[in-house]
Amino acid sequence: MKQEKLIKRTNMCGDLRITDVGKEVRLNGWVQRRRNLGTLIFVDLRDKTGITQIVFDEKTPADVIAKADSLRSEYTIGVVGKVRERESKNPDLPTGAIEVEASDLLIYSKAETPPIYIKDDDNVDENLRLKYRFLDLRKPHMQRNLAFRSKVTTLARNFFAEEGFTEVETPMLIKPTPEGARDYLVPSRVNPGKFYALPQSPQLFKQLLMVGGTDRYFQIAKCFRDEDLRADRQPEFTQIDFEMSFVDEDDILSVQERFLKRLFKELKGVDIEIPLRRMPWVEAMERFGSDKPDLRFGFELKKLNDALKGCDFAVFRDVIEAGGDVRGVNINGYSDKFSRKDIDKMTDHIKKSFGAKGLAWIRVEEGGAVNSPIAKFFTEDQMAKILAVFDAKPNDLILIVSDKVPQIVFNSLGFLRRDLAGKLGLLDPNRFELLWVVEFPLFEKDLETGELSAMHHPFTCPVLDDVPLLDTDPLKVMSRTYDIVLNGVEMGGGGIRIHDSELQAKMFQVLGISDEDAQRKFGFLLEAFRYGAPPHGGMAYGLDRMVMLLLGEESIREVIAFPKNQAAQCLMSDAPSFADASALQELHITTVEE
Ligand code: ASP
Repeated sequence: MKQEKLIKRTNMCGDLRITDVGKEVRLNGWVQRRRNLGTLIFVDLRDKTGITQIVFDEKTPADVIAKADSLRSEYTIGVVGKVRERESKNPDLPTGAIEVEASDLLIYSKAETPPIYIKDDDNVDENLRLKYRFLDLRKPHMQRNLAFRSKVTTLARNFFAEEGFTEVETPMLIKPTPEGARDYLVPSRVNPGKFYALPQSPQLFKQLLMVGGTDRYFQIAKCFRDEDLRADRQPEFTQIDFEMSFVDEDDILSVQERFLKRLFKELKGVDIEIPLRRMPWVEAMERFGSDKPDLRFGFELKKLNDALKGCDFAVFRDVIEAGGDVRGVNINGYSDKFSRKDIDKMTDHIKKSFGAKGLAWIRVEEGGAVNSPIAKFFTEDQMAKILAVFDAKPNDLILIVSDKVPQIVFNSLGFLRRDLAGKLGLLDPNRFELLWVVEFPLFEKDLETGELSAMHHPFTCPVLDDVPLLDTDPLKVMSRTYDIVLNGVEMGGGGIRIHDSELQAKMFQVLGISDEDAQRKFGFLLEAFRYGAPPHGGMAYGLDRMVMLLLGEESIREVIAFPKNQAAQCLMSDAPSFADASALQELHITTVEE
């Protein structure tokens, strides 16, 4: 058989050290750069493990020198040579003490001038990086990220297998599973007019695996959600998904704490203390204004309703009388870091993003005097009470938001607390503050439409004592749920599920899903529950986010090999694209022009 020529490699480009001097080696890779100094040609040869300096000199055969002279950036080559000690060493490079003196060179393929630089700090427009992802992936940090991601999934597979979980692939072409987003639909050619959905998560199938006796399931699962893309979302993403039978919350959380401990120890060298703290959702909201509190810094929220009842400031008084909230946060010790203009910007932001009506502020001056546009509305005694609530000291900046809708107050203050901590440089990337936020409300009410929806998903079990409230006051019903939060980001979540067909039917009813609709959409689940369903629960981690956080990257696109852009497009392959008329016809689809 005729074979393409290949210099079979003995080492990777990041391997060689001073102890290898004298060895004959064969390396393959890309030309990072070539320098021609007349009698000497240097080539930095790169692969995913690093760079080795290759040198061509007066001892190199003339035909090899000529080939070396023709090399350009990103040519792929093979080199044969001998390792020798470098005269001028490069302490920044792991291979910096040696170089390879070339005796032979093979050019596998030439390269046009690349449209992006192959270096980490290229500062190039992200769209260009995504268009030329095959080049972008050659950068050291992209290869590091992919390798790290692979370590995470390998560790997860090993851990779950050791703990008795069975890896099962659930189908990709399914009936919709509602997880709060739109489905991607796939037309069925052999069932005219009918559609599959791509799974938003394996939720229903993993529950059916429990009914099916699998007992402990896990999967590294692709999920699809057709959402309006926010900064850090992708239409397809990956979860580490699992489910367990005959368990309660304690069983699930303790297995996961062992997983997280191992993950942090083996991949970050960080010892996390387990059991992790558990914070009820209500406490997380009241103290931090967020269901994913960042615990790397203080700035806890305080409620002012009691201190201000009956005060002369109509805005606060009316809100309190209407059953709303007046709350604030003390950015203690940092008043001098924020100008009047900064506060105006904060005000604009919370008005626009969260629907807040405004932002009141109090600065505490040296000596204890207060500077605040709302001071005139309060008696001395009332102001003293406010300051006492915040334990105020000189150079404190107290920010106060009031609204009839407590959620607006929480969202605004929760945002400000973390945003200002960021501006003050208090978000230490080397600190990992993990916690469980537990017992979320079962339902939430859309502020605009007033409709109820499931806060996690409709298969979540209510706290049993709250079940009677399903009929009378569903918004008061709490759920058997838990989210894992790391440094203010939700890294995963799940819950104990309903395993009783009557309770599940009741849940659909509260959500305004008619019996008929429930039967049509989820009849198979309700039926399965009638044949002996084990109590069960589970959760899913967002793998992309987890890897991003562990690596300290700013965006999940840095840890996904081929991500979509903000418009859900793959700029490299130009997906999505128009389908051929014949393909559409086969699928029984007609399109309409907008
Ligand atoms: N299926 C849920 C989700 O994707 C996770 C779970 O409840 O296990 O968020």
